[in-house]
Amino acid sequence: MKIFTTRADASAYLNQQKNAGKTIGYVATMGALHKGHHSLINIAKKNTSLAVCSIFVNPTQFNDPKDLENYPRPVETDIRILENAKCDVLFLPDEGEMYPGNEKWHIELNGLDKILEGAHRPGHYQGVTQIVKKLLEVIKPDVAFFGQKDYQQFLIISKMVKKLRIPVQLVMCPIVREDNGLAMSSRNVRLSAAERQKSAYLFKALEQAKLNFNSKPVGQIKEDAITYLNGIEGIELEYFEICNAINLQSVITKRSKNIIALVAARVGKIRLIDNIMLR
Ligand code: AMP
Repeated sequence: MKIFTTRADASAYLNQQKNAGKTIGYVATMGALHKGHHSLINIAKKNTSLAVCSIFVNPTQFNDPKDLENYPRPVETDIRILENAKCDVLFLPDEGEMYPGNEKWHIELNGLDKILEGAHRPGHYQGVTQIVKKLLEVIKPDVAFFGQKDYQQFLIISKMVKKLRIPVQLVMCPIVREDNGLAMSSRNVRLSAAERQKSAYLFKALEQAKLNFNSKPVGQIKEDAITYLNGIEGIELEYFEICNAINLQSVITKRSKNIIALVAARVGKIRLIDNIMLR
């Protein structure tokens, strides 16, 4: 695996590969890699001829400085994981490389960045779009692969790519879960054994919502899930919403074609998100 730490070196190599006829599949990560990331790399390898991964813990998307400070950064293990996954290229810049100046950034996202995750993490999606734009400019992938786990992020990146006319195809990949149903996440390593067990209730609530989708009204499904999760000691629910999957507006009827349930909660000190497509 080739490793580049500067934008110039990564770009030069990838341009050369592109000119030689390779198609570039890209997976953007913040490291602390797990099977969810691994699956994205596998999908990239199946669909393109050069798999590129980046690891960069992007400071501008963290609204909580403690979360940024505590974010796991096991770089050597990550490199080993990527080598085992037969990833072709790793882009591993430092902060100075990605943010050489004190730049300003704002993209109008028509409110999609202000609801759900955006409401609980102000500025988060402005930071996400800022870094993803820069990374896409360096890598210039044919296809970029993102996880459904960060569903709102996928919609936001799709919106940005369309708005700025960035020539890349975006693909959303399935959520990889632990045996107990907990969605894999880099933050899971910070859960105690007891918290890890508790965290599985988030998926249980989502599964229950899916199970009841045809038999109960949307309002009832949502209320049941909230009551269920609020009843579990150690889970501090932030939101459980049932939304139109295209614009993430809350729904009270089943008229929308695509409907998704999304959840965010704190288990101990760790903030977790998850979702399930209801239809
Ligand atoms: P992160 O390193 O958390 O920023 O995630 C990098 C990419 O991996 C994003 O596209 C995530 O949506 C995706 N991802 C994270 N967790 C999972 C998971 N459990 N299953 C599938 N994809 C995931």
